[in-house]
Amino acid sequence: MSTVIYPSPIFGPIHSRRLGISLGINLQPADGKVCSFDCIYCECGFNSDHRPTLSRPSRQLVAQKLEEQLQKMVADKQLPDVLTFAGNGEPTSHPHFAEIIDDTIRLRDQYCPDAKVCVLSNATMTHRPQVHDALMRVDDNILKLDTVNPDYIRLVDRPVGHYDVRQIIDNLKAFHGHVIIQTMFMRGTFNVQCSMVNGPTSSARFDLQVKERSTFNVDNTGEAFVGPWLEAVKEIQPQQVMVYTIDRETPAHGLLKATHEQLDAIRDRVIALGIPCTASY
Ligand code: SF4
Repeated sequence: MSTVIYPSPIFGPIHSRRLGISLGINLQPADGKVCSFDCIYCECGFNSDHRPTLSRPSRQLVAQKLEEQLQKMVADKQLPDVLTFAGNGEPTSHPHFAEIIDDTIRLRDQYCPDAKVCVLSNATMTHRPQVHDALMRVDDNILKLDTVNPDYIRLVDRPVGHYDVRQIIDNLKAFHGHVIIQTMFMRGTFNVQCSMVNGPTSSARFDLQVKERSTFNVDNTGEAFVGPWLEAVKEIQPQQVMVYTIDRETPAHGLLKATHEQLDAIRDRVIALGIPCTASY
């Protein structure tokens, strides 16, 4: 299946189903992917298939290219609804992420003050005080929490380093509501052996399961997943939740979209907690 590697440091504008007219800011190299997760549904492909040879863009280059693009959009009278940090991997892993956020807010205020600054992140760097504080300064701090089941995280999100979901939930709580939780729901199966080469740190129990069989059910729409996830959402008290499903081609075969009915039912359970929630199909 074909996956996409975005230009760096600026791409788009593109029309996002969740965000509107979005100008993308990609803090990863232009020729590959760098992420602290290796999600089996990632539209950029598996990490091992896109090792970059170039460096990340510098703080100065990001500011320069962003300003040039905003000047062009002002001249064309086509302003963005949102400046979105996304692209080929985890934006908050850039060593100058906090300073780049400050540059971006300054340029937004100068050229398109009605636009939001949005970060799409997998939340793995939220323990870093500078990252936490920078995310508090953006308009939409959208952080991933696909499940609270550690084995499912190892199977589907595949952290490349240490990942403690309890610690992540505590980090999300520390935003005191200035956080939007994004959660991928899907169905289908995944054949582990086809892509475990650079896989995650695993528990002994999970390793044993992988030895015994290779194809796993990745459906997280059932109560065993949704119930505990809802408990975490209740604990985090985000300003909003976004539930969504696969929209583009994925590097793993066998993954299926969650149905409209499943997403709507999950959305309604979040709303019943008093937390706004949207579902994107
Ligand atoms: S966190 Fe995002 S960029 Fe990273 S592997 Fe997962 S989907 Fe891809």
